[in-house]
Amino acid sequence: MKRIAILGSTGSIGRSALSVVEAHPDRLQVVGLAARANVQLFADQVARFRPAIVSLATQEALDGLSNLRLPAAARVPGPEGLVAVATCPDADVVLCATSGTAALEAVLAAIEAGKTIALANKEVLVMAGAIVTEAARRRRVPLLPVDSEHNAIHQCLHGRPSEEVRRLILTASGGPFRGHSSEALEAVIPEDALRHPTWRMGPKITIDSATLMNKGLEVIEAHWLFGVAARQIDVVIHPQSVVHSMVELTDGSIIAQLGVTDMRLPIQYAFSYPERWVAPLPPLDLTRLGRLDFLLPDHDSFPCLRLAYRALENGPGLPVVLNAANEIAVASFLAGRLAFTAIPRVIEETMNAYEPRPAGSLQEVRAIDAWAREYSQGFARRLELNI
Ligand code: MG
Repeated sequence: MKRIAILGSTGSIGRSALSVVEAHPDRLQVVGLAARANVQLFADQVARFRPAIVSLATQEALDGLSNLRLPAAARVPGPEGLVAVATCPDADVVLCATSGTAALEAVLAAIEAGKTIALANKEVLVMAGAIVTEAARRRRVPLLPVDSEHNAIHQCLHGRPSEEVRRLILTASGGPFRGHSSEALEAVIPEDALRHPTWRMGPKITIDSATLMNKGLEVIEAHWLFGVAARQIDVVIHPQSVVHSMVELTDGSIIAQLGVTDMRLPIQYAFSYPERWVAPLPPLDLTRLGRLDFLLPDHDSFPCLRLAYRALENGPGLPVVLNAANEIAVASFLAGRLAFTAIPRVIEETMNAYEPRPAGSLQEVRAIDAWAREYSQGFARRLELNI
């Protein structure tokens, strides 16, 4: 029996993870759950999975549970609660499925506590990839990627030595605006951008997919997870989202992982690893698909991807700036205050204004993050007036 703690249980990945647990009651058990503020759904999850420890973002949100008749569980609010769930003594595997950077400290605490990490949150590695991967190496803790592309690469590599790997090829659906010109993108509103063609995900990552920043963050994530240089990581647009990613070996062979577009598959892989279990998912029917297309990304209409490569090649600290400015710009866009095409402008301007400083400790990373948020907020406000 593997015992699972989930950070971010009410989000899209968290809910899929709980359905994986339900499909394997003889193999998986939930021992800890943490979420932000969706009290109603969280209460249903606690009643159903009976974890030993739970957390919500605030004491007020936790108080919302007290009138309900729920099984007894330790209740800890806020960031300490995330850490408490991530380090709960019963857990073998901690799934980090929160969005944003809130779980960084909790993931590091889980690594120190010797937990296997199933990582669905890319911001953790984009902000603190060196710190997190070094901690995992030192504690000999497996970092299992849940992000579908990295999960695919993990499957393709299958313990292969790095000398045999020529490059990683990340696939991208291209998002809802594939083929659009920069001019056509000017008029995009949040409702258009939230309609992703192949994957159902939360709003932040859906916008990131539309700008291709999601792929940029994934390039940085791949660098840290697999120890591969930026120039050995390529991105191809693959509209069908069936090939989840590929690895090219030194002899020119390309190993690909294909599967249905359902996050339960990579989540189950991370939970079952190194075993493979039967999954309650429909099989992938290649003959019904008929064809698979691969295209070069359009860097002119979607500058975010290039900005991410620039951040990775010119670190330290620049990926933190990229990520923070992107979060601010996406939030402004979703609130209807910023144009879609202003998102890369806010990020680039913030990166240009950044003066490199050390990013070797969590404290330094948090300071760069705070600077970038403030700067990009100010710059975004100036652009907001112009819509
Ligand atoms: Mg992905």
